[in-house]
Amino acid sequence: MKVNASSLGSYAFCPRSVYLSDYLGIAPSNEAELAEGLIGHGIRKELFLRQRSLLGKVGDAAELEVLLRSELVDISCKAASVYSKRFPGIDLKLFVSAACSEVSEDITALMERLQYMLSDMDLDKALRNITPVEVDYYVSSDTLGLTGLIDLVYGGKNSYPVELKTCTPSDTIWEGDKLQVCAYSMLLEESLGLKTIPHGFVEYTRIRERRPVVNMEKLREKVLGVRDCVLDILGGTTPDICPHGSGRKCSSCGLTDKCYEI
Ligand code: SF4
Repeated sequence: MKVNASSLGSYAFCPRSVYLSDYLGIAPSNEAELAEGLIGHGIRKELFLRQRSLLGKVGDAAELEVLLRSELVDISCKAASVYSKRFPGIDLKLFVSAACSEVSEDITALMERLQYMLSDMDLDKALRNITPVEVDYYVSSDTLGLTGLIDLVYGGKNSYPVELKTCTPSDTIWEGDKLQVCAYSMLLEESLGLKTIPHGFVEYTRIRERRPVVNMEKLREKVLGVRDCVLDILGGTTPDICPHGSGRKCSSCGLTDKCYEI
């Protein structure tokens, strides 16, 4: 059995959430919040995919901006119907509109970055630097006992993973996000035959900030240790309610209702 790297992040939040979601298959009750996150995530990834397909087809930065904004309009027109089957009964238009206005600001920031890079390199090279080589890249390893879907992969020989997070960021990097990104780096090393990937990134989309996760040996060991704990849970070990003790996490957890009943 292989552990999904995203479950490592859930485990860091609360081991019992892994038991409820991944073992018992219980979905969180805060569907609207889930829809908001998935839509923000999905729209960004779709635009990255389309950005990648524009490589080699644009003559200058201004043309790229026009094309990206036009693609975003197209994505926003289709987004509500794409997600309506998954979230029947929830009005998704507001979420789509909020996500698209955030992504529109992302395009502005991307263009500023591109202009800055153009003082050092030509358009083609700059575009390749700011465009992921893979979007939703599936990775799986028998050796590591892990699997996952990496949001974005950048670089060639110096590849690294980027995990998009639409949640409220902390001052640093959530422990679960560190574990997930490190696991992705380990999976990517094996998948691409690279000796080592020294770091990956978590991108907190609300503040448009990419924070580095350094793949230190201790963190790699922790990934494998948490993987084993998740395997125990998937084997039927039941973690206690509120193993963290304070109840603070439970108050913000979408599984509270079911969790306290079981
Ligand atoms: S309600 Fe509390 S104990 Fe239950 S899964 Fe959520 S955080 Fe964990």
